[in-house]
Amino acid sequence: MGTLPILMYHGLHREESSRGRFDPVYSVHPEMFARQLDWLVQQGHRAPLLEDALSSANGTRDVIITFDDGDVSNVEIAMPLLLERGLRAEFFVTTDFIGQCGMLAPDDIRRLAANGMGIGSHGRTHSFLSDLDVADLTAELDDSRCRLQQICGRPIDSLALPGGRGGERELLAAQQLGYRHLLGSVPGPNKRRRSDTWLQRLPVTRNLSLDDFAALVHWRGLPARWMQARHAALALPKRVLGNDGYQRLRERLL
Ligand SMILES: [Zn+2]
Repeated sequence: MGTLPILMYHGLHREESSRGRFDPVYSVHPEMFARQLDWLVQQGHRAPLLEDALSSANGTRDVIITFDDGDVSNVEIAMPLLLERGLRAEFFVTTDFIGQCGMLAPDDIRRLAANGMGIGSHGRTHSFLSDLDVADLTAELDDSRCRLQQICGRPIDSLALPGGRGGERELLAAQQLGYRHLLGSVPGPNKRRRSDTWLQRLPVTRNLSLDDFAALVHWRGLPARWMQARHAALALPKRVLGNDGYQRLRERLL
């Protein structure tokens, strides 16, 4: 079995004025992304789709690559770099963002799917699911899924939690609506490949060096411990300030 590292990317942007939605923390430089992929290939890793990794019994070299939000750089920059190396990735799209400036259009999503990439939901509005009542929670999960199914013409059964906010209630709601693969953003290596809980993911940020990236994928050394400590430290202001207050604090600090 072994661990299953799941990398979490957002957009790939050279600089603030690059096409797409630049984020000072999460926008990874395209050249660094290419170097990270080369390193994965050199190490003998494979990047299958989630479905294949979870159903295979001997995928000890598997690494899952994921992208959240639906930035236009997903199709323009990430997809060609992945295809050149025979790698696949899962793209989690927030459906109300589709067609907005800097975001994927329906044709882009179809192109990703037609090129062997996975498509999943990242909510309809990117609201933090833990803030919603049951009706709104259901609408977020169901509307986004139906829209993506219409666009791709195939079933959508994976979900990446917007903002990483959610627990047991959100998990059960998603499962009841037919989602089978549920990804959170608690950092960790997924020591066991379970489908009855939120899968852990490893956030890849702009300032991550290639050495730190390697240590993160193999979940060893300082970057892994630092990642967990940072996540634990941020959980407190999230609880105290609520999601809105936390978001405003984050925007000010950045
Ligand atoms: Zn997101």
